[in-house]
Amino acid sequence: MPKPKHCEAVRVVVRCRPFSRREEADSENILHIDDRLGQITLQKPKAPPDEPMKVFTFDSVYGWDSKQGDIYDDAVRPLVDSVLRGFNGTIFAYGQTGTGKTHTMQGVSNDPEMRGVIPNSFQHIFTQISRTQNQKYLVRSSYLEIYQEDIRDLLCKDNNRKLELKENPDFGVYVKDLSSVVTKNAAEIEHVMNIGTRSRSVGFTNMNERSSRSHAIFVVTVECSEVGPDGEDHIRVGKLNMVDLAGSERQSKTGAKGQRLKEAAKINLSLSALGNVISALVDGKSTHVPYRDSKLTRLLQDSLGGNAKTVMIATVGPSHRHFDESLATLRYANRAK
Ligand code: ADP
Ligand code: MG
Repeated sequence: MPKPKHCEAVRVVVRCRPFSRREEADSENILHIDDRLGQITLQKPKAPPDEPMKVFTFDSVYGWDSKQGDIYDDAVRPLVDSVLRGFNGTIFAYGQTGTGKTHTMQGVSNDPEMRGVIPNSFQHIFTQISRTQNQKYLVRSSYLEIYQEDIRDLLCKDNNRKLELKENPDFGVYVKDLSSVVTKNAAEIEHVMNIGTRSRSVGFTNMNERSSRSHAIFVVTVECSEVGPDGEDHIRVGKLNMVDLAGSERQSKTGAKGQRLKEAAKINLSLSALGNVISALVDGKSTHVPYRDSKLTRLLQDSLGGNAKTVMIATVGPSHRHFDESLATLRYANRAK
């Protein structure tokens, strides 16, 4: 019997982007997707015919023609519904640079069909809120970046200031002095997202250069208060984290030296720390979940495991040129199931 969808704590899906125009001219497609079975097969370029193909099974796989709306409805909507009910949740986009993480998470904001997970979740949250009658909601957002294990506020003018992670017995782990903006509708919160995205590229000649090395985390906190049958106010709080991770490519292979190499080591560290945390959670038998191994996992500690839901969207490209990286991405994602 197929396992019921949407009820597990961790869901892992894979999305394959179409060929880019450049790849179309000189690339071979090495991916085969069976969306009914949730299977993706990877064919090694020039492999001898008797070499077995790499086959992976996930909760869902989405081919090159998948729509932003399909990804949202299928993989993300149930998680955001649970945030509206007062639980925490985290959505990650993981993959090599250029495979569609930012496309999946942000998309193109002025085209409704092309909007990604983040703006779709804003729409969803405020639509649900507008349908309720007896509850009062407060929606706050923060947007931060982790770059080389330093945390920066993307909504603050002085975004070069490094913020500290603190721990408090009442709220758990939090970022000291992180700004948080109250938003009343989807347009307002989208404006906040755009400000943060712009601030991300400051100091870099090239947006892709920075985004390929840093994690961007958009956090939406939904607080709901309702008068209970006892006449008292009851408050529940759900937190939604949407994470566009640093590129997963192994940077050390690209001839990095000095500062670059140190940077690469830190990126690899936080991605492998995340992989270890998720696989410990999925395993269920581990007594120790190594949250403390990176800023990313410490920061997300209260939104990974326990009652929280996690969705990992692994992104890959179809070209034979990226066989090694695509295989590494699928292996990473496979560990998280
Ligand atoms: P990443 O954030 O992983 O580095 P991007 O999201 O910037 O990758 O995507 C790289 C390029 O591929 C962009 O031009 C983007 O528009 C395009 N792209 C990515 N995924 C898709 C998709 N599913 N459908 C169409 N174009 C895509
Ligand atoms: Mg990107």
